[in-house]
Amino acid sequence: MDSIGSLGLQQGEGAPSCPQEGLPCPSNSSEMVQECLQQFKVTGAQLRQIQTSLLGSMEQALRGQVGPAPAVRMLPTYVGSTPHGTEKGDFVVLELGATGASLRVLWVTLTGIEGHKVEPRSQEFVIPQEVMLGPGQQLFDFAARCLSEFLDVLPVDNQGLQLGFSFSFPCHQTGLDKSTLISWTKGFKCSDVEGQDVVQLLRDAIQRQGAYSIDVVAVVNDTVGTMMGCEPGVGPCEVGLVVDTGTNACYMEEARHVAVLDEDRGRVCISIEWGSFSDEGALGPVQTIFDHTLDHESLNPGAQRFEKMIGGLYLGELVRLVLVHLAQRGVLFGGHTSPVLRSQGSILLEHVAEMEDPSAGAARVHAVLQDLGLNPKASDAEWVQCVCMAVCTRAAQLCAAALAAVLSRLQYSREQQALQIAVATGGRVFERHPRFLSVLRETVMLLAPNCDVSFIPSVDGGGRGVAMVTAVAARLAAHRRLLEETLAPFRLTREQLAEVQAQMREAMAKGLQGEASSLRMLPTYVRATPDGSERGDFLALDLGGTNFRVLLVRVTTGGVQISSQIYSIPECVAQGSGQQGILLNWTKGFNASDCEGQDVVCLLREAIRRRQAVELNVVAIVNDTVGTMMSCGYEDPHCEVGLIVGTGTNVCYMEELRNVASVDGDSGQMCINTEWGAFGDDGSLSMLSTRFDASVDQASINPGKQRFEKMISGMYLGEIVRHILLHLTSLGVLFRGQQTQRLQTRDIFKTKFLSEIESDSLALRQVRAILEDLGLPLTSDDALMVLEVCQAVSQRAAQLCGAGVAAVVEKIRENRGLEELTISVGVDGTLYKLHPHFSSLVAATVRELAPRCVVTFLQSEDGSGKGAALVTAVACRLAQRTRI
Ligand code: ADP
Repeated sequence: MDSIGSLGLQQGEGAPSCPQEGLPCPSNSSEMVQECLQQFKVTGAQLRQIQTSLLGSMEQALRGQVGPAPAVRMLPTYVGSTPHGTEKGDFVVLELGATGASLRVLWVTLTGIEGHKVEPRSQEFVIPQEVMLGPGQQLFDFAARCLSEFLDVLPVDNQGLQLGFSFSFPCHQTGLDKSTLISWTKGFKCSDVEGQDVVQLLRDAIQRQGAYSIDVVAVVNDTVGTMMGCEPGVGPCEVGLVVDTGTNACYMEEARHVAVLDEDRGRVCISIEWGSFSDEGALGPVQTIFDHTLDHESLNPGAQRFEKMIGGLYLGELVRLVLVHLAQRGVLFGGHTSPVLRSQGSILLEHVAEMEDPSAGAARVHAVLQDLGLNPKASDAEWVQCVCMAVCTRAAQLCAAALAAVLSRLQYSREQQALQIAVATGGRVFERHPRFLSVLRETVMLLAPNCDVSFIPSVDGGGRGVAMVTAVAARLAAHRRLLEETLAPFRLTREQLAEVQAQMREAMAKGLQGEASSLRMLPTYVRATPDGSERGDFLALDLGGTNFRVLLVRVTTGGVQISSQIYSIPECVAQGSGQQGILLNWTKGFNASDCEGQDVVCLLREAIRRRQAVELNVVAIVNDTVGTMMSCGYEDPHCEVGLIVGTGTNVCYMEELRNVASVDGDSGQMCINTEWGAFGDDGSLSMLSTRFDASVDQASINPGKQRFEKMISGMYLGEIVRHILLHLTSLGVLFRGQQTQRLQTRDIFKTKFLSEIESDSLALRQVRAILEDLGLPLTSDDALMVLEVCQAVSQRAAQLCGAGVAAVVEKIRENRGLEELTISVGVDGTLYKLHPHFSSLVAATVRELAPRCVVTFLQSEDGSGKGAALVTAVACRLAQRTRI
């Protein structure tokens, strides 16, 4: 048997008793009373079925699938973040539909200081029945009149008042200030409002009224107001639950799970609209004849079936129906009813709550029943109390099942097995009913055992939350402006990129001519790319930072096979004598063509001679860009450019010998190592350089040098991002303005984080994990902004790189006098290869800036070793040909 502990949910027990413990039940209980009470009992299994079915209905709606029956609606609210606690300002709040047949106006002051609260001023206006059921315009005119009546007695000037509109009915929201009513609920039924934008209707009415100039900034419902007004506790409050006239909840969902939103980032508050949940399979078994009667007699028969079992508007009515039933059967009140008891709506939530309150005692129950024109006996009072309890306990349990469905959803979407969450509660049922919250809490604990839920009562009936939404909207807009301003210099226009391309072209030409230029344009003495006819066995030596690799490269008709052996460089050698510097130069190839390079070759030759183990001929020394070009060139004869984007960046390409002033000869070609990392060292990039580039440059070991490289390569991108994050934090845009020591640490933000953060699949969760690892306290807004910063920095890097490649390929095309050039670029480097968007952005920029070149990018594998061997192979091939 499925049981929910002490809540009296056991099915099929013997004599029914009052559903709650601790209350005396009449001993002469008639079967008919027991039968009535029994109908309101819900088993654990039934609650779980409701939980499961509601969760299914929620997920279906999130996916945008609409079933035949009205189900939950899952309406996005355009509220994307929970409050920081730093929001401030004065706001007018107008509440409609949150508290039954009344309308509330509030003046809320947010101080921006945690713990420092200013009590809001508020006024409640009762809405006459004929207004609730009359023409829509009359309702909105009434609201505008209440507004000015309220403002008239406040010392406010009529300047730029900002209003948050709390409108608690199911709406389709298409913006923070645009919301179309789907259908009236909770006893409202005004004509000509359904299908209309209620913000516009309110604006029109305020204008017709003409007394105040008020800007309606945001529209939300009471659940959102409740959630947003919640004082931030241990963690943010991300569920709002309201049980007032009706019932509803909202929670923060991952935007990518919401099919109707064209947004895959961040979170959005979803109004579940669970009042319309109506799965027959789940609800049918727990509905009583009284629920059916209530529904038939309501303003909206067939609709809001779930709400009609929970909402405060209906609890009193259900009790009334049961009492009429029992009185008519002669069980209660000596078989007499009264005209008041027989009239719809005569028992209110307040009556029910009062009669159930154990501290009120039997005398209160008697008094309430007498007010209803009844003449109760002692046992009647006790039974009436039992009826109230049965109805309200069921309501709290059903509400718990629904909340448990939301918790399951959160567990799933956050991928958290054990969820710790705060739920803000609001509405008169929580405020007035003595046991509703405790029954709800106990049932939730049983239905969602892995969730640690704290219930936090809302402040000011959600009005503060509405002000908060209005303030958050204002804060986000301000932060977004600051972010955009900060990132604007990184967003290069086509013209700016074309200018970089033109300057690169000029610097290349000057460098080749031996004129002053930031590009050194070093000849490499590699005169040809592979033509595929190379054959033989070659040894290549590759010195990395920590490893020394010896490769045997076998070039045969069948292709290139490489076997390699890795030796780690002993510490004493790595950090010992001046040879170290020479080795590094050799690997990086910075000075490959001059005497340092010669030294290495000589050293190597001598070392080999000393060993005398094998006969080797040291033929060539290769820089990594050349190695990359050559290794790709073996597969693709069009490969005449080599590009590296790793720790640093560089390019080499095949230039016409006649253009190379420093090398004799007019025919043929030679591979030129551009050393383009130094591009801009003459100040030509200063127009593009941001304050963040300047900071990174200043803090580097070579200030003023390698300016192009410092905007592009892996050694620097993380640092640029870190400097931007520091700046945004100082503006208060990020991390709530709190500077941490960690973020001040140089190189703490690795370039590989850009790749991880920008990878589409893991999105914001990844950003959070990375930043939390760095000890940065972040919200989802922060995560989104960090992502945008990374995107701006890596996009500029890729575009600058693309502008450079465009300059190179255009030069080759013009060198050859071609209308169109088909060419391939061999690429190596971890940044290029592993960043999710870098390579495609480079290619797109090249297409844009060099439209007459058809450029294919080939990623090299084992570029350095294979390339070195191929340089040797080509040199041997050319030497042989010369001998012949
Ligand atoms: P190198 O250029 O030193 O010969 P690599 O091509 O492997 O070697 O580049 C290493 C650099 O690539 C690192 O310094 C780092 O900045 C960058 N890097 C490492 N991992 C990633 C990654 N996942 N995404 C982007 N950049 C990365």
